Amino acid sequence: MPIDLVSRTAWGARAPRGSYTALSSTRGVKVHYTGGRVDPAIVDDHAKCVTLVKSIQNSHMDANGWMDIGYTACACPHQKVFVGRGLRHLPAANGAGLNTSHYAVLGLVGNSGLVTPSDGMLRGILDAIDWLRREGGAGREIKGHRDGYSTDCPGGPLYAWVQQGAPRPGGTSTPPTTGGSSGGSSGAPAWPGRLLAYPPLTTGADVRTWQQRMAARGWRIAVDGAYGPASRSVCEAFQAEKKLAADGIVGPATWRAAWEAPIT
Ligand SMILES: [Zn+2]
Ligand SMILES: [Zn+2]
Repeated sequence: MPIDLVSRTAWGARAPRGSYTALSSTRGVKVHYTGGRVDPAIVDDHAKCVTLVKSIQNSHMDANGWMDIGYTACACPHQKVFVGRGLRHLPAANGAGLNTSHYAVLGLVGNSGLVTPSDGMLRGILDAIDWLRREGGAGREIKGHRDGYSTDCPGGPLYAWVQQGAPRPGGTSTPPTTGGSSGGSSGAPAWPGRLLAYPPLTTGADVRTWQQRMAARGWRIAVDGAYGPASRSVCEAFQAEKKLAADGIVGPATWRAAWEAPIT
């Protein structure tokens, strides 16, 4: 699917104050979150995404005194990519001295409310990155704002995804369920392509598959298809046991380990 760009005209951007500083190429892209609360209602109403992006631009121009929104592009849950400063223009969001080497791409999640990026948002971020590589001279690096700068940004779930190599979420197919103790193949079913995390509650067949597998490994866990605090605790304990990064998020490595790591 080609990138679904929302032009500055389409989202009603204010004109920049002055002209952009040109940027011929970068080492790559840094991923950001809003750092504030994002109303979960944006998931059901793209018009609210537009309002949010406009408010971010206002804050960057009026409170920060910047000449425009600080981001190169912003991805919403609907896999749409808002053009911020755009291609070959110096962003402002990475921190002083850090804007010439990376473009800045925002995912519309925050530190409360909507905190976990949907598959659509992850795909949107990747669409933006592909676009910047293709037309903006961006190199291969994908990093988080916090890499080399003191900030929580881009938040736990997005940063975990970045650290996992920013995998593109798969299709809508449900991974096959494998039995717990029947002999034979020990291979993990394909990773569902999204991070299982809490909060907010993540629900679905993939959650159930993982819970079933953890129960089969002997963990006390409800197989209810809802990844809440109890599932997260099991995940954290399992990650600690297996010397994985104990972030409480089921990403590709934690998913695979549930099937392939030895049961102790
Ligand atoms: Zn940031
Ligand atoms: Zn949207």
